[in-house]
Amino acid sequence: MAEELLVTEGAGQTRQVNVGSFVRFGAGTPVVIAGPCSVESERQIRTTAEAVAEAGAHMLRGGAFKPRTSPYAFQGLGAEGLRYLQVASRATGLPVVTEVLDVQDVPLVAESADMLQIGARSMQNFSLLRAAGRSGRPVLLKRGAGATLDEWLHAAEYILAEGNRQVVLCERGIKSFEPYTRATMDLGGALAARLRTSLPVIADPSHATGRRELVVPMATAAIASGLDGVILEVHPDPDSSLSDAAQTISTAAFTEMMRHLHMPPRSADLALLRAAVDELDESILRLLDQRMALSARIGEAKEHHGLPVRQPGREQAILQRLQARSRHHLTQAAVHDIWTAILSASRDGQAGTVPKEAQ
Ligand code: PEP
Ligand code: MN
Repeated sequence: MAEELLVTEGAGQTRQVNVGSFVRFGAGTPVVIAGPCSVESERQIRTTAEAVAEAGAHMLRGGAFKPRTSPYAFQGLGAEGLRYLQVASRATGLPVVTEVLDVQDVPLVAESADMLQIGARSMQNFSLLRAAGRSGRPVLLKRGAGATLDEWLHAAEYILAEGNRQVVLCERGIKSFEPYTRATMDLGGALAARLRTSLPVIADPSHATGRRELVVPMATAAIASGLDGVILEVHPDPDSSLSDAAQTISTAAFTEMMRHLHMPPRSADLALLRAAVDELDESILRLLDQRMALSARIGEAKEHHGLPVRQPGREQAILQRLQARSRHHLTQAAVHDIWTAILSASRDGQAGTVPKEAQ
């Protein structure tokens, strides 16, 4: 590629792509995305989500708009499927990735899901790529089954060119002369994409192999090779899957794989929990800064009205109101101590704007 491209900037240094509050592609720990090929019912997606979450999956997948070879095959539940995905996501805390097939559905999918998937068949749907780039959501870009590396990277460029750097590439098998497997998982190509770009790259051994018995070993190979994660088709009863049954593994097989890969189950993932706390601390800091700015304006208003900075009655009222509303995780004593400190910082801030004699 002789042109100057955004996609090759910082090649070889993987930039992080964040999804939801916890998921970090390219941060060193492989991201595992699991879920059924298609969302079939509220119960099916919820049961799957709960099982894969407990096993330690980081994200939930599930197709609501399905790109099927035959127009008579199950096409997905559409908007209803997106709602079921949201229910499952809320119940488990797993962020959702789901495919968007049509430009006109981008706003709806972006509203319901945490990450948009551009499927292999849509890899060169340039208006869809641009719309995904403008969606404000991170994008999982699958490699077309017949696409060269350059074509794949140029497809990513369409998204980046819209100002969206939150792109993760996904190798899902390319066509070869071999019909035994559905496609040929091009691990070398995926690793080359990782070296030639700063985008995280994951693999999809389900679509690449089309064979259940090859999915876990190929996922293991992808992770061992240093890719940034895998996306797997998982179903509580794989044989009953409405799409891609032959390549779908059971929730039990998924749980076993996670154990083998030493991926911590959800309840023991300290890094995940700490990342969530760090995220919350950032939000609290931002809000406190906003509060201090507002408080400074109040200090000016007090000065204008000739009032002292310290207003014990008002402080008491604030403390009592918040203590009365404290929830079970936050005791009244904790609310008292935290807001006493906040009010003190607030007074110190105002003191800087109010003349000494008025304090
Ligand atoms: C999918 O992930 O459900 C899917 C249809 O994948 P691909 O676009 O890779 O065929
Ligand atoms: Mn599928």
